[in-house]
Amino acid sequence: MAGFDWFWRAMGGSSARKNQKRGKEIVAHASEVRRQLKSLSDDDLRGQLQTSDMGTKLAVLAEAAQRTLGLDPFDCQVKAVLHLLDGDVIQMATGEGKTLVGAMAAVGFVAEGKKVHILTVNDYLARRDSAWMSPLVDFFGLSVGAIYEGLDANQRRQEYLKDIVYGPVNEIGFDVLRDRQVTSRTDQVHTAVDVALVDEADSVLVDEALVPLVLAGSIPGEAPTGHITDIVRDLRENMHYVIDDDRRNVFLTDAGADYVAAALGLDSLYDGDQAAHILVHVNLALHAKALLIRDIHYLVRDGKIQLIDSSRGRIAELQRWPDGLQAAVEVKEGLSVSEGGKILDTITIQALMGRYATLCGMTGTAVEATDQLRQFYDLGVAVIERHKPLTRFDEADRIYATAEDKNRALVAEIRRIHDTGQPVLVGTHDVAESEALAAALSDLDVNVLNAKNDDEEARIIAEAGDVGRITVSTQMAGRGTDIRLGGADESRYQQVVERGGLAVIGTGRHKTARLDNQLRGRAGRQGDPGLSLFFVSLHDDMVVSGGSGEHITAHPDAEGRIDQKRVDDFIAHCQRVTEGQLLEIHAQTWKYNKLLTDQRAIIDERRARLLDTDQAWKELQERAPERAAEVKDRPKIAETAREIMLFHLDEEWSEHLSIMDEVRESIHLRAVAKETPLDEFHRIAVREFKDLAQRAVDKAVETFQEVTIDPQGVAQLADQGRARPSATWTYMVSDNPLASGGNSVMSGIGNIFR
Ligand code: ADP
Repeated sequence: MAGFDWFWRAMGGSSARKNQKRGKEIVAHASEVRRQLKSLSDDDLRGQLQTSDMGTKLAVLAEAAQRTLGLDPFDCQVKAVLHLLDGDVIQMATGEGKTLVGAMAAVGFVAEGKKVHILTVNDYLARRDSAWMSPLVDFFGLSVGAIYEGLDANQRRQEYLKDIVYGPVNEIGFDVLRDRQVTSRTDQVHTAVDVALVDEADSVLVDEALVPLVLAGSIPGEAPTGHITDIVRDLRENMHYVIDDDRRNVFLTDAGADYVAAALGLDSLYDGDQAAHILVHVNLALHAKALLIRDIHYLVRDGKIQLIDSSRGRIAELQRWPDGLQAAVEVKEGLSVSEGGKILDTITIQALMGRYATLCGMTGTAVEATDQLRQFYDLGVAVIERHKPLTRFDEADRIYATAEDKNRALVAEIRRIHDTGQPVLVGTHDVAESEALAAALSDLDVNVLNAKNDDEEARIIAEAGDVGRITVSTQMAGRGTDIRLGGADESRYQQVVERGGLAVIGTGRHKTARLDNQLRGRAGRQGDPGLSLFFVSLHDDMVVSGGSGEHITAHPDAEGRIDQKRVDDFIAHCQRVTEGQLLEIHAQTWKYNKLLTDQRAIIDERRARLLDTDQAWKELQERAPERAAEVKDRPKIAETAREIMLFHLDEEWSEHLSIMDEVRESIHLRAVAKETPLDEFHRIAVREFKDLAQRAVDKAVETFQEVTIDPQGVAQLADQGRARPSATWTYMVSDNPLASGGNSVMSGIGNIFR
């Protein structure tokens, strides 16, 4: 019965069951109509799309897919389209044809007069899917485009005009940020959109929800000192500092604080003018030393720090840690400190999603994210049954007392399976582990996937199902590409089937059951045989952090293996605890973000008024009548007024973000007895924001009075140091340091703090 829990939760009780019944009827109706549509000409078929009846609409979409792509949608795919059009997140297993479903739904939305963004997890999939699906979209006389890195503003503007736009979430978010800096509507690239259809919806909407996308300008930020780093380098764990159980936080002990103070020539680390400032830097340096481990959290390559995105297990090209922490790690590794720049604006993915009136999505693992999707986005989950029943065999976990016992057994099992010719895909948790495992198998031909290009990664993953192939991959490498048995061309399909299909092995359970299932889902595609199996040890991070404080007595056999139901239950318990912790962190972090998101909305309203009206010029005339009288007949004056006002508004916002960033980094250091850090943060944010708009106007008036304005009415703003940054760049912030109080920004469920 336990297995049905999720089912009822997902179905949300009886009204949803009625919905299901209605769904079934519509799909049956669609399939009937479909038969009549077969004889229609293309033109007549096209004409039927605008029908108000859902069954007919689905039938038209299905028939068009058959004619244009040669793919005849299964009933379950048609049902999935229906649920997407209803605004649900659908759960559909890997290889069941989500790409087609997404495109059909997108066309369906456009037929309702809406514009759609299909959000992908990377550039590669945006380009692949838009090209692949274009015949279907073209058929209806609609347009489809793709956004990816490397397009310039003009190209982006063109693409965004299309009815359906495929694009990676971060690129689309970066464009929103850049658009929020324009001083003229014509510079904007985005146009209004109604619907976001999110691929890999659980990763994007839950795991990455609170990753901030950042737009920075070329004004250098502050670097922490190498001196502090050198002092911190000498500190010892458990003497000078302690790390908490889930390895998220590190704290100086009294002895540590005394040591650092003495080394800095101070009486105490906690008193004096500079105390808060120094303490922030000491904490950053300590965090970099104790919690960020080379080859697990980052790589050093070409003299640069490259972050590892632990939920995807690959290099996170565009990511940085918040400036102070990034610099602290750079100093720790003896690298030159990269320019942080001044943060002009940021948006979290969750806030980005809030911009769309309709949200829907698809993923192989939605059910376990039901609570989060409902809580954060008010989204329902619909489970789409498989086209062919699952025949994969999911073995019970193999649990070992120690990591050494586990690793020995793991390597032996990979060899044993490999000897039969069955392909093996091993999912590891980090780069270091994948390399260690590859080394242990170095006598065999092993494909290691951890930090390559999406294209190549997709190819290697696509071939992972061939006879005798061993692929060792960090968590989600190659997501979005399905693994066919017998190689990408399936030429040895039968041979692999006879050997039991693809075997997926996990080197440890993940922090959430959902991530486990994402890995399992690589096997057993479209009714194929397959196997999934996890190795677990009582020393695994998830077990240690989830079970902290609890002791379990186990009785391992000679190989160190533990085969007791009680221990199975304990592992499941640890995972539930970890899941609960992640949910709590998310809820907490969102509370920090929400206020700034709301404040930004107020700024956006003000910006819109300045952009679309002559409000700026009006206000300057009122506030500086004499100066206004002097320049009022110059042709470009209204435009200049707008530029001045926007400059100061944006600058004040940037300043606000920087203040709040610092507050957040030090909030747990300064929280006073009676207030929680969150209350304190809110109080400061509200206070700081209160006068922001007025301050921006005051400064604009000042600039207007002082700046030289030529006969055309153009102001020489650069001469006044009032020019916008000449260059901007974008990145994602991977995690917030000093995570205590739960104000850590999550980057993927894997979080860099394991
Ligand atoms: P997913 O994203 O769900 O893992 P894809 O969209 O990549 O799956 O599709 C997997 C494969 O199934 C693709 O090769 C696609 O061509 C094929 N496919 C999808 N729908 C159909 C269909 N109705 N009939 C036959 N093949 C299909």
